[in-house]
Amino acid sequence: MSGETLQVYFLGTAGALPTPVRNPSCIMIRRGSDTLLFDCGEGAQQQMMRSRCGFIVNAVFISHWHADHFLGLFGLIQTMSFNGRTEPLTIYGPEWVHEFVTILRQVARFNLKFSLESVELVQGSWVRFDGYTITAFAARHGLPALGYILEEDPRPGRFNRERAIELGVPPGPLFGRLQRGEIIRLGTGDEVREIRPEQVMGVSRPGRKIVYTGDTRANYMSIREIASDADLLIHDATYDETEAERGAEFYHATAAQAGEAASVLNARILVLVHTSSRYPDAQAHIGDATKKFSGSIIAPNDLDVVEVGFRDEI
Ligand SMILES: [Zn+2]
Ligand SMILES: [Zn+2]
Repeated sequence: MSGETLQVYFLGTAGALPTPVRNPSCIMIRRGSDTLLFDCGEGAQQQMMRSRCGFIVNAVFISHWHADHFLGLFGLIQTMSFNGRTEPLTIYGPEWVHEFVTILRQVARFNLKFSLESVELVQGSWVRFDGYTITAFAARHGLPALGYILEEDPRPGRFNRERAIELGVPPGPLFGRLQRGEIIRLGTGDEVREIRPEQVMGVSRPGRKIVYTGDTRANYMSIREIASDADLLIHDATYDETEAERGAEFYHATAAQAGEAASVLNARILVLVHTSSRYPDAQAHIGDATKKFSGSIIAPNDLDVVEVGFRDEI
């Protein structure tokens, strides 16, 4: 596989209530050497230990201020401080993120050794990282709530080695310069001619894309423009179809609605999370989603890891 590794760790897949085998919401995405947390429910630290991920987190994105999505931050920040972290940590989130971080600083009666920043995001806000962007979108959850999209930059097209040789480019460093987008010159004097990268590079290829809805009612029509064509659509699937009314009442989606979203948004793989504690397993959820979506569907257990590959390499 070309490009950076991209792995999604499902550290907490429970709904609002944890169960003996499911922790509240927490998803860790590791891309190359970056580690991002999306929500940080209670017990996140132990899940990180069980996953052998360590506590070096570059940024935290909270979907909304329900306790099952943020309570783990208090302990995690203390541990980071004990571990001698000095790099600032930014917590991104919807409205009230500044209040949350202020409270966190006020109640933490330990010597916080690094700077804790807060950044409020709204629909369409984006945060740039090296090689990818995180974009926020509004969720429908009865309070300010966000979903997040991780989208990699497009990759350069494939290098056409045969074509380069045909054009007289000798194998070696000049190949690399063309691949990096440089124009090169061959020959001397009156014989000099230019070879341009577009003569030997194919069309650029899309990077990978992960969409995490956070807690939400069925939401897909309003996010079609920005959330389509995800490799992984991680969707609220709190209820199965027998509890559809409850889902609408409490601003959550059913697995069938998650399936509809995956279909409308042309996702490659649908991931069902935030499973209510009333269900012993997610079999009915997968069955419901299958009726609406013909792609791959998974309902991860806590600590499952999904490696995301490029669409054109599978
Ligand atoms: Zn929740
Ligand atoms: Zn919630």
